[in-house]
Amino acid sequence: MSRPKCPVCGISVEPSKTPSMPFCSERCRLIDLKRWLGEEYSVPDRLADPDEDEEMPEPPAEDE
Ligand SMILES: [Zn+2]
Repeated sequence: MSRPKCPVCGISVEPSKTPSMPFCSERCRLIDLKRWLGEEYSVPDRLADPDEDEEMPEPPAEDE
């Protein structure tokens, strides 16, 4: 049980099924990229830290 979590939305990522690691999806990868480009850096007050965020309950199963 050592699944990495998407740094953007914080859901569990399954490495073997996720080509966009460490992000859960291509979309989250772009969101993170935008952050780096400065879209959310205008007020460097308190950025959301995924690790300090509230824990999300794990889904029981991830079969499709
Ligand atoms: Zn994500």
